[in-house]
Amino acid sequence: MHLERIAVLGSTGSIGTSGLDVIAKSPGRFKVCALSTNINIKLLKAQVERFKPEAVCIGEIKGNEERWGKTRVYKGETGLLKMLEDVKIDTVLVGISGSSALSPVLKALDSVKKMALANKEALVMAGSVIMSKAAKNNITIVPVDSEHSAIFQCIGAGNRKDLKKIFLTGSGGPLLKVKKSRFRDITVKQALNHPRWKMGKKISVDSATMMNKGLEVIEAAWLFNMEIKDIEILIHPEAVIHSMVEFIDGAMLAQMAVCDMRVPIQYALTYPERTDSGIRSLEFSKIKNLSFYKPDFRRFPCMGLAYYAGKKGGTFPSVLNASNEVAVKEFIEGRVKFIDIPRVIEKVLGFHKGVDDPGLGDILEADRWARVKTKEIFKCYR
Ligand code: MG
Repeated sequence: MHLERIAVLGSTGSIGTSGLDVIAKSPGRFKVCALSTNINIKLLKAQVERFKPEAVCIGEIKGNEERWGKTRVYKGETGLLKMLEDVKIDTVLVGISGSSALSPVLKALDSVKKMALANKEALVMAGSVIMSKAAKNNITIVPVDSEHSAIFQCIGAGNRKDLKKIFLTGSGGPLLKVKKSRFRDITVKQALNHPRWKMGKKISVDSATMMNKGLEVIEAAWLFNMEIKDIEILIHPEAVIHSMVEFIDGAMLAQMAVCDMRVPIQYALTYPERTDSGIRSLEFSKIKNLSFYKPDFRRFPCMGLAYYAGKKGGTFPSVLNASNEVAVKEFIEGRVKFIDIPRVIEKVLGFHKGVDDPGLGDILEADRWARVKTKEIFKCYR
């Protein structure tokens, strides 16, 4: 029987480990052919023992080993691109966090048949480039981000041409009930403490600022070819509904499941099929209530900044993303306050002179410019 050859990029992170868990529970379906990590070599070695891939890539360029047993070892950013060129891959699961996923995503779109994409930053930066390359090479991008998986599934039950609106739901993050006056004292620990999902650090801070939801609006616009104005954020603290769509006839569809990333990961990996996951069902009698609220743009200005950048288009989303990445890193490393994150991004967006219909070069230049500008402005904060 033909085994689907699968590569897991970012295999030691939150998405990657869940992805390998899904793969391990589907014997006879997948062959893991390549893995990559940024720094967690210890876990990568354990994954190599277990899945015996042909190749792995480590982000750090250290040491001179070229093989671990039968597994070829690639290193660094260029090594990752080389690995994607050398290894035959049917499906790639992209679990790399942040903008560093952009080059491997574009490289993988040269050769894979299907992409299960968990990364949102690459789409926010360069959605036009990614989506047109995927269309040209006839590659299906199946989103792994839980909301976008939900939207993808809902749209699949109807026709894309009849789609009227997307309701992007979000639990509201760890600070949903915290007063704005307390925001200036938010610690890294508080920001990382998400009530519903266990995730990596970057996305957890993004959930606290609600920038995550803002980035997801832009991500959805690219994935589903929707206008930003037709995507509405809805706060839904129970996180039972993972997003909804409305068709032109007024019919609305929602996707529901327990909060377990293995559900959207497995859907993306097995798409267009569904297979038994063994994951528990929702118990509606225990949930009792589903509630929905409009998001609070005053307490969480990052969402408004994302709508602004998304509507401006061009290189603005790239600037939004880069400035946010720098600001989140500065916050996690204790150099700036939580409330400085939206402040600095707003300033950087204000300074940006956008490029319409940008090519990849314009996008990368905007990204580079925004990082320098953000650091420059932060120097005045310290
Ligand atoms: Mg999400």
